[in-house]
Amino acid sequence: MILSLTSNETATREVEIVADASEIDLTASDDGEVRFGHEVTARLTTRRVAEEFFASGLVDTKATLKCARCLAEFEVPLTAPIELVIHRVHAPAAGADLDAYVEVTSGTSSFDLGSLAREVLLLTVPEVPHCSEDCSGLCALCGANLNVETCTCEGSSTDSRWDGLKQASTLKRT
Ligand SMILES: [Zn+2]
Ligand SMILES: [Zn+2]
Repeated sequence: MILSLTSNETATREVEIVADASEIDLTASDDGEVRFGHEVTARLTTRRVAEEFFASGLVDTKATLKCARCLAEFEVPLTAPIELVIHRVHAPAAGADLDAYVEVTSGTSSFDLGSLAREVLLLTVPEVPHCSEDCSGLCALCGANLNVETCTCEGSSTDSRWDGLKQASTLKRT
């Protein structure tokens, strides 16, 4: 995910950089609950002032998550802000790399945004994902996915053990 550092001084440029998720090491969480695999796109406004490059914008991709309530897998778009100052200096100071400020050696013509993009995107992954706001989850008794089916566990009026009896009484009446 390479940002070019060769723009003309003070000119503002809109750049779009696309990379595969795997290219920036965005694959799956250790427990497999979060998976990536879609393209990652950074849309940035960049500007160069002397040896300083300013880049800000958004990076987005899609992730596959597992709903904490119904355990269904679903895809969500993720968007994260990205902001960065890259300073070209003769001798980059060790440890000068803060999240949004990086020093590189004079003459450097490109910068790999990959690890920053990865970091900001991972921060946007919900800790307790839900496939929808009103996901009904699974029945605690029979495990039925209540989003797609109804079960007969709750309340005596819908207790399946009485179904036969109800049918019998209906039959008698007709
Ligand atoms: Zn759900
Ligand atoms: Zn049930």
